[in-house]
Amino acid sequence: MRNPEERPLPVPTPVSRCYWEGLREHQVRIQYCEPCDRWIFYPRSNCPGCLSPGLEWRTVSGSGSLYSYTVARQPSSKLFAGAGTEILAIVQLDEGPRVTSTLVGVLPEEVRIGCRVLPVFDDVDEEHTLLRYRVA
Ligand SMILES: [Zn+2]
Repeated sequence: MRNPEERPLPVPTPVSRCYWEGLREHQVRIQYCEPCDRWIFYPRSNCPGCLSPGLEWRTVSGSGSLYSYTVARQPSSKLFAGAGTEILAIVQLDEGPRVTSTLVGVLPEEVRIGCRVLPVFDDVDEEHTLLRYRVA
């Protein structure tokens, strides 16, 4: 548990609350539309395909592959000063949707597009867990 620099943290909404609660329990939960047989991320009130309001929350492994990344050697905001070099990543979940995250435990020169990645549950404080990724 740590957030010594008081960085901004997510504020769950009624639509996204299940996602954030899942992360606190170290589970990745994303939405699924039964009529479309389609996985959806980010959290929404309605399916972007058929507009159904009946999206289901389902727990998935959270594993996937690295779709793209960039190395941020300087903070994008003074609120993130001191974070050091960060690897900003877009992960394609095995179910299909893409998630924006950061890679941890790996050096930028070791990262390869398409590599397998696994979820890391970063418990920032008692109320906030962030989804990060590590190379499998
Ligand atoms: Zn749908």
